[in-house]
Amino acid sequence: MNIHEFQAKDIFAKCGMAVPPEKVAITPDEARTIAEELGTAVVVKAQVHVGGRGKAGGVKLAKTPQEAYEKAEQILGMDIKGLTVKQVLVAQAVDIAHEAYVGIIMDRQTKRAVFMVSAAGGIDIEEVARDTPEKIHKLAVDPFLGLLPNQARMLAFKLYVDPKIAGQAAKILTQLYNTFIESDASLAEINPLVTTSDGQLWAVDGKMNIDDNALFKHKDIEAMRDLEAEEPTEVEAREADLSFVKLDGEIGCVVNGAGLAMATMDMVNYYGGSPANFLDIGGSSNPDKVVAAMNIITSDPKVKAILFNIFGGITRCDDVANGIVTALRRIAEGPGGPLKLPIVIRLTGTNEEEGRRILQEVDLVATDTMADAVQQAIKLGNN
Ligand code: GDP
Ligand code: MN
Repeated sequence: MNIHEFQAKDIFAKCGMAVPPEKVAITPDEARTIAEELGTAVVVKAQVHVGGRGKAGGVKLAKTPQEAYEKAEQILGMDIKGLTVKQVLVAQAVDIAHEAYVGIIMDRQTKRAVFMVSAAGGIDIEEVARDTPEKIHKLAVDPFLGLLPNQARMLAFKLYVDPKIAGQAAKILTQLYNTFIESDASLAEINPLVTTSDGQLWAVDGKMNIDDNALFKHKDIEAMRDLEAEEPTEVEAREADLSFVKLDGEIGCVVNGAGLAMATMDMVNYYGGSPANFLDIGGSSNPDKVVAAMNIITSDPKVKAILFNIFGGITRCDDVANGIVTALRRIAEGPGGPLKLPIVIRLTGTNEEEGRRILQEVDLVATDTMADAVQQAIKLGNN
């Protein structure tokens, strides 16, 4: 689960980091009031779950409360990478002498929390990572020992020459590590970690991503979920207990099992198509899930064809077939009338014969092989 910048910085502030005073506004008037209260120049920042807001025009300096009003007016409602800005953060502006990057991710390769730090922080960190990867320093932390004081100092000295500033940085890195572990994050990042001209460090931007599977342990973080900021179909999928990730392609995929779903997406790409989503209906035999999956996929206007790839194990083919038939009937009875998209179904395994019989009753045919089904779906989608 992603949280907003202001929420991540609240967490950072609670563990002792210096975060500029700030508040969230949902109207330009509120932004002006907050700027008046702060009594300083402010930055008005779009709160959306995506990076690169600065480059997209979603981060603007305002010297006066009136300017804060105007910038908020510009930023609220703005579209940043497909997300509409519904709230802005109004933060005390910091005078920036230097911007560093510090981040931690859960790394699958080393199976450890890995620090990444760079003295070349700020909005161009992606380019730094691509063009001059040697400027990014990494450290995998032993989960039993945690971040050792000497490791924190060693990382800090990769960023700063001045021992006073490095000392502050070592403390921040330790705080970041502790909060990363305590909140079961998969990512925690400060970019930029700003040095002011008087040698103070400030967390000016914050980002955290929390492992969904650990949210039950963190009711306070779970309560931060902003459904308005999330992809609506992903919200709907979560409610229906489906694992779903929206993508940009045109073949809507309904698959049972995450591995098979990945393989299906690979095959769609291999045969020249592109998947509209990752969707795993899971191992259960619940027709309601198929109905929910169909609803979610057909709500994406880019989808040109629907591909079912079901390998019946615990999932029974007859249940999936019933789900497909039920979903088609409900869609037909809905305001848009019968489904206009072609459907290709690959169905093998438990209760396969019964599944095929159910499909035949409504003139749907199942293919035997995955390759056939994928190629057909792409072909029908292109017509
Ligand atoms: P991002 O582009 O989504 O990562 O948003 P950031 O919060 O990192 O802001 C982008 C850039 O805006 C930063 O790298 C800074 O250069 C600049 N910026 C953000 N806050 C301040 C501030 O308080 N003062 C000044 N002078 N610049 C800021
Ligand atoms: Mn940033």
